[in-house]
Amino acid sequence: MKNIVMLGAPGAGKGTHSALISAEYGVPHISTGDILRANIKEGTELGKLAESYIAKGALVPDEVVIGLVADRLAHPDAQNGYVLDGFPRTIAQAEALDKVARIDIAINIDVAFDVIIGRLSGRRVCSCGATCHVSALGGSEICPKCGKQLYIRDDDKPETVKARLEVYLKQTAPLIDYYKAKGVLVDIDACGTIKEDFEKIKKVLG
Ligand code: AMP
Repeated sequence: MKNIVMLGAPGAGKGTHSALISAEYGVPHISTGDILRANIKEGTELGKLAESYIAKGALVPDEVVIGLVADRLAHPDAQNGYVLDGFPRTIAQAEALDKVARIDIAINIDVAFDVIIGRLSGRRVCSCGATCHVSALGGSEICPKCGKQLYIRDDDKPETVKARLEVYLKQTAPLIDYYKAKGVLVDIDACGTIKEDFEKIKKVLG
């Protein structure tokens, strides 16, 4: 199986499609955002450091996330393909990744900015890992998967969303050209339903 990088703005659907790829192809879904949030929840040193950056919508320093991902990619389950979600987010991270891994494909999930803002402002998450949108909940705030109370991620609040989108444009969007130059970039025009968009991704992955 392939080593996959997911690119796209916050709210483009990287997490959703990474989870689907993971289930379909049996590869680990490695999300730096999830790892950092788990550390915040557990109150680790890494969590304490990451919290202040995440709360502002800023990026956690490169050396911190690079070390974290290098460790994770050394685990046995990552030796036969993986899907990296939310990493790399800067050119420095992509260069560091190239030193420890061979990336076969970078999938850029392309979604219009106004759609992204609607998605982030309506996103609800659950401690079981599920992500939903208010438009599909019919007024309920209960997780359809496990029945627990849903909540809004701190960094999905409007002022933080604006900062995250600015950071994306300045620091992460240049990765599209980085992977294009390497000949591994595939653009997915994610304008349909999750199912329709995932069919496009499956076609690309074969
Ligand atoms: P995400 O769940 O991918 O949207 O990530 C949530 C937040 O975690 C981001 O806004 C950053 O503050 C931090 N984060 C996640 N991945 C990275 C990364 N590769 N580099 C720096 N910060 C990251």
